[in-house]
Amino acid sequence: MTERLGMKTLIQGGFVVAFDGTQHEIIKDGLVVYNGNRVEFVGKDYSQAVDRKIDANGCLVSPGFIDTHFHSGINASDYILNDSTKLDFFAANYLAHGGPTREGAHFAHLKDVDVGQRFSLIHLIKSGVTTTFEIGGPGAEPERFVDMVDEVGIRTATGPSYKNVSFFHDSEGRLEYDWDEARGSEGLEKAVQFAKQFDGACNGRMSAMLFPGHVDSCTPDLLKQTKKAANDAGVRVQIHATINLFEFHTVMQRERCTPIELLQKIGFLDPQVSLSHCIFISGHSWLAYPYGDDLKIIADSGASVAYSPLKYLKLGITMESFDRYLKAGINMGIGTDTFPKDILSDMRYAALASRVADKSFMSGHPRDVFNAATLGGAKMLGRNDIGRLERGAKADIAIVNLRDLAFGAVRDPIRSLMENAVSRDVRTVIVDGETLVDDYKYLRLDEQELLDKVQKKAEQVWDSVPKWHWTGKSIDDVVPPSFKMK
Ligand SMILES: [Zn+2]
Repeated sequence: MTERLGMKTLIQGGFVVAFDGTQHEIIKDGLVVYNGNRVEFVGKDYSQAVDRKIDANGCLVSPGFIDTHFHSGINASDYILNDSTKLDFFAANYLAHGGPTREGAHFAHLKDVDVGQRFSLIHLIKSGVTTTFEIGGPGAEPERFVDMVDEVGIRTATGPSYKNVSFFHDSEGRLEYDWDEARGSEGLEKAVQFAKQFDGACNGRMSAMLFPGHVDSCTPDLLKQTKKAANDAGVRVQIHATINLFEFHTVMQRERCTPIELLQKIGFLDPQVSLSHCIFISGHSWLAYPYGDDLKIIADSGASVAYSPLKYLKLGITMESFDRYLKAGINMGIGTDTFPKDILSDMRYAALASRVADKSFMSGHPRDVFNAATLGGAKMLGRNDIGRLERGAKADIAIVNLRDLAFGAVRDPIRSLMENAVSRDVRTVIVDGETLVDDYKYLRLDEQELLDKVQKKAEQVWDSVPKWHWTGKSIDDVVPPSFKMK
């Protein structure tokens, strides 16, 4: 049955995560009623007639999760994150899998709206995400991207990203920066144009944001222009900040201060801004820079942090720590960034990484991580109608099956979720009152057909590696397989 305005649906839980006006609470055997795209009732007793019922017995009925850092595309380049030819890159994040030779640049970036971007958004929805920040997706084909998001059904905060610099490698693996003032301001102009044209598109599910690339890939001037443009257009901003050691040392050498101090100095930080990753702040154990107080600067500014723990764990790095940032007063969100884009796993990684960083099992409390993946993300977008289930909120709902041997006995469903759940436990996902996933299947296209196309695209990307990689070597030399493959 397709949903329509005025059609009432009752979800019978389960454990319902309700919002009491201040915080989440759990209602056992609770009910959620939504009418069209709005939640009408959350509680225990509802006597009015409804048009249909969803049985969520044994399930967690949760507000849909908010992914605060996501790049859409196939997962072929994530595979190259641990590039064994770049041992001198100190686990340098995107520089590990990016940065072609000048001659090979043409072959390096295979973005595909119809297969790659569609696939990753659907994959994300299936982990219970109903709203995602989507960084740079509109790129060269904004109209097609917007149409695709409309068809897929997710809620997005998106925009093309831009920067002043292009990265290349020479034939001996040295990183070279090409600066271009015009490239940056033209990129910003296009991003503002996108915001004007598409803010509120997809039935209001799309909101525009500005995404300047990184602190070291944009001039301070471009960042100042960005902040002004964002204020003029009334849109929010996210920038990759303190994401790798290269960036920290590059900015320190250029500007004589940390990346966070630079952002503060140029007036960039405020509550409209979120910082992607934000790992290498003063005092991080990898930096040998115990000076200043980046954490306090961020907290005082009201800026948020979008933390993607899995990406960093893959590189042997942790934030130090999720709890410390939270206690400093920073609004935290969770992002998926790399692959898999499974917000439930990333929530668990955020909790565990915080415990390791703090050397304390009291750190990374399930409550705090769950809040970050719901209320924290909503605050980052300046919204109080998503990330929570209360009367008047958007009908963005994730239903996770907890009645499975993998969960065993359940007492605190949030702890169970944090300890055990993965995307494959998400049974139903509703966005804006529309059911996108039911009985563990995405309803709007054939998943197997999509997977075949994704595999084909990924093989093309992997086959192209010798054409753009500075070593000229094959993918199996760049990322040796676990065992010999015959
Ligand atoms: Zn990113």
